[in-house]
Amino acid sequence: MREGYDVAIVGYGPVGQALAILLGQRGWRVGVFEKQAAAYPLPRAVHFDHEIGRILQAVGVAARVAGRTETADVYEWRNAAGQTLLRFRSGASGLSGWPEANMFSQPDLERLLDERARALSTVEVRRGCEVTGVRDDGDLVELTVKHADGATAPVPARYAIGCDGANSFVRQHLGATVTDLGFFFDWLIVDVLPHRPTVWSPLNVQVCDPQRPTTLVSGGPGRRRWEFMRLPGESIEELNSEATAWRLLAPWDVRPDNAALERHTVYRFQARWVDTWRCGRLLLAGDAAHQMPPFAGQGMCSGLRDAMNLAWKLDLVLSGTAPDALLDTYASERVPHVGALIGFSMELGKVICVADPQAAAARDAMMIAAAAAGQSATPPPAIGIGPGVYLAGDPHAGQLFLQRRVSRAGCNGLFDDVVGGGWTLLARGADPALQLDPQAAEFFSTLNGVSVGFGPDSDVRDIDGAYTRWFDSAGVGVVLQRPDFYLFGTAADSNGVNRLLHRLRETIT
Ligand SMILES: Cc1cc2nc3c(=O)[nH]c(=O)nc-3n(C[C@H](O)[C@H](O)[C@H](O)COP(=O)(O)OP(=O)(O)OC[C@H]3O[C@@H](n4cnc5c(N)ncnc54)[C@H](O)[C@@H]3O)c2cc1C
Repeated sequence: MREGYDVAIVGYGPVGQALAILLGQRGWRVGVFEKQAAAYPLPRAVHFDHEIGRILQAVGVAARVAGRTETADVYEWRNAAGQTLLRFRSGASGLSGWPEANMFSQPDLERLLDERARALSTVEVRRGCEVTGVRDDGDLVELTVKHADGATAPVPARYAIGCDGANSFVRQHLGATVTDLGFFFDWLIVDVLPHRPTVWSPLNVQVCDPQRPTTLVSGGPGRRRWEFMRLPGESIEELNSEATAWRLLAPWDVRPDNAALERHTVYRFQARWVDTWRCGRLLLAGDAAHQMPPFAGQGMCSGLRDAMNLAWKLDLVLSGTAPDALLDTYASERVPHVGALIGFSMELGKVICVADPQAAAARDAMMIAAAAAGQSATPPPAIGIGPGVYLAGDPHAGQLFLQRRVSRAGCNGLFDDVVGGGWTLLARGADPALQLDPQAAEFFSTLNGVSVGFGPDSDVRDIDGAYTRWFDSAGVGVVLQRPDFYLFGTAADSNGVNRLLHRLRETIT
C-alpha cells in the first residue's frame, strides 16, 4: 500500500471515513491521512435525514446506527413568551425508508465508521499524519505527509480528496475563491447527560428569545444538546466556560446534581462554499467545500452526499469505464443542492439569531399572524441535483428515488439490504434486464447493474405496494437509479429500457 494509493484522502472526519469505505468496498486502495492522533471528541452534528440513513446502509453501518438514534417528530420554534412561531413536522418514514429526522451523537457515528473502514483490507488509516504539501503532476498526485516525529514522506496517489474540514489545507492549496454569504454567529454548544431518563416534548425546540437565542434538541438517546448564542458585547472567553454553561442551563432545571456536563465549546457558524471543487486530480468534499449554520442539521448530511456522489464517479474513472471529465459533474451536481441547503439554513438562522428586542417583536408579530392565517412552515422542498449525469427533460431525472420494504426468498427488509445497491433498473412489470439488447446488457454488466421487476412472476415483492404507487403516480414503467439513489431517467415501459442504457453510456463515456 505504501507504494501508492488509488485514492488518498486528507482528513478522517465523517466525510473522509464514508468516502474511504465507499471506495474501499469497491476494491480501490485507499490511504487516509489524519493529523489528529485521536477522534474529535467535541459535540457537533446531532441530526441526519432519511437520505443519510440510506447512505449509512450503503457504507455498512446502518444496523449498528439504528439503536443509537432517536426519531424526532416535531421541531418547534417559539418566541420568548412561549408562543409558537414555526412548527416543522417530520414523518416516521421518509422517502428513503428512514425517519425524516434522526437525532444522534457524531462521535458515536464516527466510531462506527472507523470500525467499518478499518475492517476493509483495502483501506489504510494513518492517524497522526498531517498533509503539508500537495503536488499534481498530471499523471499522479503526490502528498507530503508529516508524521508525529516530524519526519516527512511523499505519498503518491491517482487522486487525492481534501476532506479536511472547514480550515482545509487542500482548499488553501487550490487557491480557490469562496462564496461567503457573510452570515456568521458564535454559539456555545453544550452536551448534557441527564442522570434520569427524561421525556422532552417537543423533542426539538428553538427559543427565539432576543435576550438569549437558544436551541434545545436531542443529542441521541440519553443525551441532550443546548446551544446558546453569543450576545452583542459578550466575549467568546466569557461564554466558553463550564461556569457559564451551568448558569445558562439553570433556567432549564439542569444542574450539577441532576445532570453531567459532557462537553462544551464555542463555534462560529458560517454560510459559504468554495467556487472550485476540482482541480485536476485534487477534489474537495464535506466542510472543506461548504459550511452552513446548523439550524437545518444539514452540514454533515451534505458532506455525506458529496462522498456518495463522488465515490461512484471515481470508481468509473479509476476502472477506465469513464473519462476523468466525469468528475466535473461532481461539482455541477452538488453545488446547486448544497447551495439551496445553505440558503435554507441561513433563512432559519435569520429567524433565530435576532438579539434586538424590537426586531424580535416585529418578527414575532409577523410570524404569529402568518400562522393564524394558516401559513404553516414547510421544510425545504425536495432538492434535485444540478446539471450532470441524468436525462435532461425527464421530470423525474436528477431527483432522489424512494426506498421501501421488499421481500425476496423469505427475506424481508429495505430494498438495498435485500436486493443490493449500485446502478439499478426497477420496473413495475417484468424484470427489465430481460429486455436489454446485447450491447446494453454488456454495458449494464460492466456497471455491475442490478435489475428488478415487481410483476407477478418476480421473486421480489413490493411489500407495502409503495413502488407500484410510485410508478402509478409518476406515470412511468421503468426507472434507472444511480448508485447515489438519484434517478438517471425513466421510461414509459420496458421498450424504453435500451434507450435508457444507451443514453447512460453516451453520457458517462
Ligand atoms: C455545533 C454544530 C452542530 C452541527 N449540527 C449538525 C447537524 O445536526 N447535522 C449535520 O448534518 N451537520 C451538523 N454540523 C456539521 C457537521 O458537524 C460537519 O459538517 C461535519 O463534521 C463535517 O465533516 P467533515 O468530515 O467534512 O469535516 P471534519 O469532521 O471537520 O473532519 C476534517 C478532518 O480533517 C483533519 N485535517 C485537517 N487538516 C488536515 C491535514 N492537513 N492533514 C490531515 N488531516 C487534516 C481534521 O483533523 C479533521 O479530523 C454541526 C456542526 C456544528 C459545529
